[in-house]
Amino acid sequence: MHSQQMISLVIPVYNEERNLAMLMERIMLTMSAMKRPFEVILVDDGSGDSSLDILRGFAESPEIRVVELTRNYGQHAAILAGFSIVRGEIVVTLDADLQNPPEEIPRLIAAMEEGGFDVVGTIRKGRKDSFFRIIPSKIVNVVARKITGVRMTDWGCMLRAYRRPVVERMIACHEHATFIPALATHFGKRVTEIEVSHEERHGGKSHYPLRKLINLQFDLVASFSDLPIRLIMYGGIAMAALGVCLGFVLAVARLAYGALWAAQGVFTLFAVLFAFVGLQFFALGVIGEYIGRIYREVRKRPEYVIEHIYGDDAGGGDVRLKGEGS
Ligand code: UDP
Ligand code: MG
Repeated sequence: MHSQQMISLVIPVYNEERNLAMLMERIMLTMSAMKRPFEVILVDDGSGDSSLDILRGFAESPEIRVVELTRNYGQHAAILAGFSIVRGEIVVTLDADLQNPPEEIPRLIAAMEEGGFDVVGTIRKGRKDSFFRIIPSKIVNVVARKITGVRMTDWGCMLRAYRRPVVERMIACHEHATFIPALATHFGKRVTEIEVSHEERHGGKSHYPLRKLINLQFDLVASFSDLPIRLIMYGGIAMAALGVCLGFVLAVARLAYGALWAAQGVFTLFAVLFAFVGLQFFALGVIGEYIGRIYREVRKRPEYVIEHIYGDDAGGGDVRLKGEGS
C-alpha cells in the first residue's frame, strides 16, 4: 500500500545550466529504479542563463513539470511555488547543483515509511563547502536548535522529505521571510533525521554571498523567535546597571583624588559613551530587521508569481490560482 504512494521531487533552479543535464540523468535513473509513481517539479527562480530553455526541454517528459517564476524570489520561495502544485503524497526537496546526491532519495523515503515519520531531515556527512560557508551555518544550526527547541542537527541541508499534509500547512502560511526546514519541523509531528552524503558543487558557484547568507539566517531566527530583541533588552539593562556603577566609581574617585584626575577621566567617559552609542545602533539595527519583515508581511505581496507551468497537461487551472494568490 505504502509503496504505491507517489513521490514528488521539488527542485529550485537558479542559473544552473551547467548542472541540469547531469541532475536529470541521475534523478531519472534513481527514480525509475524505485518502480513507483513519481513526478519532478523544477522551479526556475528567474534564471538569467539558459536554465529555463533546458528545463522547458525536460517538460516534454510526462513525469516532469517546470514552473517559471516571473523573477528571482529566492530558494525558499521557489520551493514553495513548487509545493503549491505537487501531486504526490511524499514530497522531497533537493538542490539543483548536485550537492545533494539524488541517489540518496530511496534511503530518505525508506526512513520515512519505515518509521512513519512526517518529516525526514538530513545531516551532511563530509560536507563539501568552503570554510566561510560552513562556519556561519554551524552557528545557525546551534541557534536554530535553541530557538525552535527541535533537536535537528543540520538545518541547512535541503535534501529532505515531507509528507503531503506538512507541505500543505507550509503553503497555507504565506510567509515571506521563511525557512522551509524550520517551518516543516514546526508542523510535522514525527520528525527524524538521517545522514546523507554531500558532494562538491557540480558546476558554477554558490548563490549565497555573505549578504544573502546573513539575510537567510536572520529569516530563520526572526521568523521563529523574538529572542534577539529580548537579548538586547537584557543586554541594555545590564549595560545601564554597569553605567550607574561606573558613574558611582568615577564620582568617588573624583572626591578622593580631586579634579585633576577627573579631567583625565574625561577620556574614559568618551570610551564608555562610544560603547553605549554602538550598542544603541546595534539595537536599532536588530529592531529594524524585524520592522522590515513586518513591513513585508503587511504589504501582502505574493511571495512568488508563477509566469507559466510547462508540461502541465492535466490542466492545473485551480492549481495555478493557488500559486499566484497570497
Ligand atoms: N537557488 C534558487 N534561488 C536563489 C538561490 C539559489 O532557486 O535565489 C537554488 C539553486 O539553484 C540551488 C539551491 O537553491 O538549487 C541551493 O543554492 P546554492 O547551491 O547556491 O546554495 P549553497 O549550496 O551554497 O547553500
Ligand atoms: Mg549548493
